[in-house]
Amino acid sequence: MRHSITHAYSVTLLPGDGIGPEITDATLLVLEATGLSFAWDVQKAGAAALGIERRGEVLPDPTIESIRLTKCALKGPLETPVGGGYRSVNVALRQEFQLYANLRPVRTIIPFRGYDAIDIVLVRENTQGLYAGVEHFVQVGGDPHAVAESAAIVTREGCHDIVRFAFDHALHHSRSKVTLVHKANILKMVSGLFLEEGRRVARDYDIECNEMIIDNAAMQLVMKPETFDVIVTTNMFGDILSDLIAGLIGGLGLAPSANIGRTASIFEAVHGTAPDIAGQGKANPSALMLSAAMMLEHLGEMDIGTKVREAVVATIRDDQIRTGDLGGKATTMEFAKAVAERVK
Ligand code: NAD
Repeated sequence: MRHSITHAYSVTLLPGDGIGPEITDATLLVLEATGLSFAWDVQKAGAAALGIERRGEVLPDPTIESIRLTKCALKGPLETPVGGGYRSVNVALRQEFQLYANLRPVRTIIPFRGYDAIDIVLVRENTQGLYAGVEHFVQVGGDPHAVAESAAIVTREGCHDIVRFAFDHALHHSRSKVTLVHKANILKMVSGLFLEEGRRVARDYDIECNEMIIDNAAMQLVMKPETFDVIVTTNMFGDILSDLIAGLIGGLGLAPSANIGRTASIFEAVHGTAPDIAGQGKANPSALMLSAAMMLEHLGEMDIGTKVREAVVATIRDDQIRTGDLGGKATTMEFAKAVAERVK
């Protein structure tokens, strides 16, 4: 991906909706400070792409083309209407680029409510299960929404790939245990297949593997988080557990993620558009900065990725420069400037 003449990394940039543009500006400031060159291809998606008149497309062709070309995107959060309205652009992007693995590492930066040593990597299957988007209403009598049906689609190949991704991640990051989280006691087929294939893949690795039912996993994560290392699970369970784990380190403002795919990869914060604080300079840009650090590592810039991550941690922990969600008074840009200073 490095261009031989300019040495610039070509990356698609989707600032997104709500707090997206603010945290993107903050993150770009830090990436500039790394001294690396980026050829940003700024594109639109979500509400921003619809425009004020709401006439555009939520996932325009030029955006898809750009990601197809660069194979790498840094993305702000996108608004998704609840219930009706347009389909989730995030889900569409995951399916378009087969972003099958959602990697969500969560590590304590400052102690939070008695949790002081959280270090968990959640690997979530990103394209299948109940989020495959196969759902419909059934009309009964005069009520067109009398019944709602949703199909959870899980393939052996999908289960194989996600569990293998988790074990490979554990192997390459010196992690000692992988927990398969499932609900195979009730969902004997959709979750049973995940467990069956997970057990099979686990045999290929010299890494401890255990199994846990999703509801128990939720409780154990709150009561004994230190017993978890890498967790791998299906789409919806992963979605819910990753927010739970983010809550153990002080909230969504600190939780990064990478969507790794067969044809492209997209790096984004776990959190959403935070409409309650959008446009006020209050948002914590750490999660997107930490996602950018994951992107740098993905691009092969391991040392600079580590430097960005350590700068974010040191600014929060040592310099005690913090945004409101962490009890501080810093604005998004004040925080960004402090991180950039440490990166220079
Ligand atoms: P949210 O993550 O936007 O907000 C939840 C709470 O966390 C809010 O109180 C918010 O102020 C706070 N918060 C989130 N990020 C923060 C940050 N960086 N700094 C400080 N505080 C922060 O979740 P929501 O309210 O459920 O969703 C709002 C919108 O975002 C919805 O349209 C949803 O579909 C969308 N969403 C998008 C993504 C994505 O694009 N990846 C992910 C989740 C939600």
